[in-house]
Amino acid sequence: MNVDTLISGAILITMNEGREVFMDGAIAITGDRIVAVGRREDVEAEVTPRETIDGRGFVATPGFVNTHVHITEPLIKGYTPEALPFDEGLMRWTIPLYEGQTVEEQGVGARLAILSMLRTGTTTFLEAGTMIAFDEIMAAIEGTGIRGRTGRWTLDRAFDPAQDQAGLTETAASALAEDVARYPDDGRLIAAWPNLIGHQTATDELWRRAKAIADENNLGISAHMGPASNDDAWYRANEGHGPIEHLDAIGVLGPNINLVHMVHISAEEVPLLAKSGTNVTYCPGASLKGGYGGSAIGLFPEMYEAGVNLALGTDGSDTHDMMRMITTMAGLFKDARMDTHQFPAHQPLEMATLGGAKAMGLADQIGSLEVGKKADIVLHDTNRPEWRPLNHPINQLVWSADGRGVHSVWVDGVRVVDAFRCTTIDEPALLIEAQAAGEANIARSGLPLLCAWPIIQ
Ligand SMILES: [Zn+2]
Repeated sequence: MNVDTLISGAILITMNEGREVFMDGAIAITGDRIVAVGRREDVEAEVTPRETIDGRGFVATPGFVNTHVHITEPLIKGYTPEALPFDEGLMRWTIPLYEGQTVEEQGVGARLAILSMLRTGTTTFLEAGTMIAFDEIMAAIEGTGIRGRTGRWTLDRAFDPAQDQAGLTETAASALAEDVARYPDDGRLIAAWPNLIGHQTATDELWRRAKAIADENNLGISAHMGPASNDDAWYRANEGHGPIEHLDAIGVLGPNINLVHMVHISAEEVPLLAKSGTNVTYCPGASLKGGYGGSAIGLFPEMYEAGVNLALGTDGSDTHDMMRMITTMAGLFKDARMDTHQFPAHQPLEMATLGGAKAMGLADQIGSLEVGKKADIVLHDTNRPEWRPLNHPINQLVWSADGRGVHSVWVDGVRVVDAFRCTTIDEPALLIEAQAAGEANIARSGLPLLCAWPIIQ
């Protein structure tokens, strides 16, 4: 069989049905697909490659799937003070800084987020449904070579009774329908989803309309829920039951729904998620930094036990390195429950690959190194201190390595990272643009640089 590219001699963590790990493996790519994968000897006997890449010294994994990221936020990284209640940090710092960005600055931020994802092995992302200048950002990220699903900043609840509730719902639902029509999931790398901001901001009517759009077009919906106790409190006060019970009651849960954070939910709600096939994305980094209580009250071990599909996200602006999320997830509940059986290394790795693929409705396309799947492949350089001696590829991938060891990345069969450099983005130019855009954004906000220590200019 003639193939385009053969990666030969790498250690393969396939994530296939049997979770086989080949210590001397090979992967053949033709076009956008994996056409052979397995023991090096077997694959080499089967294929005639146009190009051969020496994979010795590398561990190959499927590309990571980040199922919760705000791609237009990275310019504000580090600026919001840590020691604030959830609402105050969001309302007084993060949102004003974010809304104060020009469209051009948001585009620079989005490209920076994508660079940061590709360079650390993320090949597919699910954006949080918070892109304000939707068309401009879709244009800015075109050609970056990453796979993604995005959503417009969408909410409709009239918290002020003077507002026209029906009008707000109609505007929001129409915008979602238009986005999906203009950026269809027709084989292109980046498509629109009818995402909602979530929390308490979408009415039942908007949830139903978004769900209908998703169902009709074979898409999904991502929405925030329960990072803090206020979502649960609001639903109980206004609807008489918890948020998941409510979404179940109005008939919008299902395998194409991705609910994000999900720390403050009740034990009674876990079976509703499992029964409906609803996906849950946890963002351990955001949870730790924001003091959400994931380790104290999070029911993630119970969700896993109940068969809920779990995935991982990086959330906001601080880091886009999914390998740090995998490590954190592997440790958080061992410590919280004082039980080393919680989330053994291979489980968070599943969450960041197969779990994410399923949450995005792409389980037949991505998430593993298997024949017929998209060639979304990451090579981790093992000639680095964290990988030597190489005793156990999975444990070291999860506990020793991080995204800085990612040497090469293919998305859809295209090599988008080569020798630690992105091939689709001019990195030095983008970093200069990002510095200027970040400084301008902060200067306009008037928000002070708060630091425990004196900052001497
Ligand atoms: Zn978020």
